[in-house]
Amino acid sequence: MKGTINVQAENIFPIIKKFLYSDHEIFLRELVSNAVDATTKLKTIARLGEFKGDVGETTIEVKIDAKKKTLHIIDNGIGMTEDEVEKYLNQVAFSGASEFLKEYEGKVDDGGIIGHFGLGFYSAFMVSKKVEVITKSWKDETAVKWVCDGSPEFTVTKSKKTQRGTEIILHIDAESEEFLEDQRVEGILTKYCKFLPVSIKFGTRTEQVENAKGEKDEEGNLKKEEVTVDNLINNPNPLWKKSPSELEKEDYTAFYRELYPMTFEEPLFHIHINVDYPFNLTGVLFFPKLAKHKVELQKNKIQLYSNQVFITDSVENVVPEFLTLLHGVIDSPDIPLNVSRSYLQSDANVKKISSHITKKVADKLAEMYKNDRQDFETKWPDMQVFMDYGLLTDEKFYERIQPVYLLKNTKDEFKTFEEYTEHIKGNQVDKDGNTIFLYSNNPEADHGVIQKAEKRGYDVLEMSTPLTAHLLQHFETKMEKVLFKRVDADALDKLIPREDTVESNLTEDQKNILTPMIQGVLAKETFVVQFESLDETDQPMMITQSEFMRRMKEQAEIGGGMFGMSNMPESYNLVVNSNHPLVSKLLIEEDEEKRGAMVQQATDLALLSKGMLKGEKLTRFIERSTELIG
Ligand code: ADP
Repeated sequence: MKGTINVQAENIFPIIKKFLYSDHEIFLRELVSNAVDATTKLKTIARLGEFKGDVGETTIEVKIDAKKKTLHIIDNGIGMTEDEVEKYLNQVAFSGASEFLKEYEGKVDDGGIIGHFGLGFYSAFMVSKKVEVITKSWKDETAVKWVCDGSPEFTVTKSKKTQRGTEIILHIDAESEEFLEDQRVEGILTKYCKFLPVSIKFGTRTEQVENAKGEKDEEGNLKKEEVTVDNLINNPNPLWKKSPSELEKEDYTAFYRELYPMTFEEPLFHIHINVDYPFNLTGVLFFPKLAKHKVELQKNKIQLYSNQVFITDSVENVVPEFLTLLHGVIDSPDIPLNVSRSYLQSDANVKKISSHITKKVADKLAEMYKNDRQDFETKWPDMQVFMDYGLLTDEKFYERIQPVYLLKNTKDEFKTFEEYTEHIKGNQVDKDGNTIFLYSNNPEADHGVIQKAEKRGYDVLEMSTPLTAHLLQHFETKMEKVLFKRVDADALDKLIPREDTVESNLTEDQKNILTPMIQGVLAKETFVVQFESLDETDQPMMITQSEFMRRMKEQAEIGGGMFGMSNMPESYNLVVNSNHPLVSKLLIEEDEEKRGAMVQQATDLALLSKGMLKGEKLTRFIERSTELIG
């Protein structure tokens, strides 16, 4: 028989060739998926008793004939009758899969049918100048051969094929000869078909095994012999399809290795997802150790599958961005695949799936906290970046996680917000009723101030992730009467202002005499001299940096700040303790040179304790100090 393909095929072929998928390699995914569907269908009708013959071997074979420049995809599935060939292959975009599902609706779950890509089969023409389909149906009918060279004309003839199933032969065109290379084809199969539910074989490979006859070498070890075995591409029964109750922790670790053979670190924990209503979603997400890594490096590790067919590893439109820090697999036939990325975000199913995953992750974290607080604390440093990112960007996640969010103080104690507020409420509430959370992003550098704060009965937190500045702002907006202040943001007395202020020993006139004296030894653009009535046991001078200004700058630097402030100059306060005896001494010292040296030494000490005394200034300071000892 001869005929013309429906649907104005003259116009469609060039379109298929160029634009159907920008990624030409996808043709192989489509054809192997069809072969898997054909096999699954056969198994289904066998189970339902409609097919009474022997299902037999079902491995799908992919092979290259380098001489003939052909690529073959061979299955032992359901096959097609002549009528079906006419119906399914000649009517572009007519999907046999949806018809099959309609027919068997209610009798099978979703049947595990991959089809619904619609134009799947025709993607063969992206890489072929001619396509042959030789097929024999499971029904007792003569096999047929369909040949089409990409023009709308095709031929259908009888074939001698006796084995049930379908062989697709692609005559690879000149521009696509890469698809005749073993390595390339194996690479594509591994990428897209690694977890397809039917075994796939591509060529053979040799394996070393202990010889069957039990022969030994001179040292008495069993001799090895080489055997040729089928090169199987896939694991037809991947872990995420199994029930969590039959799996051990080791199984998950082994699966992690299977997914990421190049990653050596073990995941912190995993989350097994298994939903079938109102949408179908399975998968396993792994929580990687994040502490040592930068946020950006970790993305694109989640693989998206549809019925075990690999679709993509950029899932940023399917899950909230912070979740892309996780690793693993999500599999859902309910995520539309051949649509634009912007469409994905507005798809109702995708939204539901996305919030379900967020909820699952948050629930798992809360459960871990509840079940084993100790273990949760141990894992915390590796989870914190993720938590911070999630809290900042996802409202729902914030609500679920805030109660188990851990604050760590400089004594390495972990406390939730509730516990911490209780812990500091006696000491760290200011005159306006704000609870002041003191923190340091570098406890070693801030050692001096922290020690002073602790002497006063204050507690200091350690907060130093890249997101700290944004996060604190977020907590302050969400929680009432809570303020975060870095320990070096102000003099201790000023960090937590009280009603009972210390009287100043200096008059305004005296301050006006001292100001130019001190400002004179400092860079004007960077330091502002400021007097504070502090305890006389506090340092005579110290460097502080306003919490507000510093946060603005930090936020601008990591992006997301409101103003273009990333080039904002550093600005500090030089706080002079009006009540320190040394300051009064400066006023009575008449020897100008000696007074100058005292001012210099005191400001240098302030800089030194902030790690800000460098270069020539440091050299001078050391020389001057040595002289003083002498
Ligand atoms: P889809 O897979 O989305 O239904 P395709 O264009 O890939 O669309 O295939 C159209 C139809 O052709 C399939 O639904 C199926 O009925 C039939 N078909 C394709 N490949 C095979 C095969 N290897 N064995 C049996 N039938 C096949």
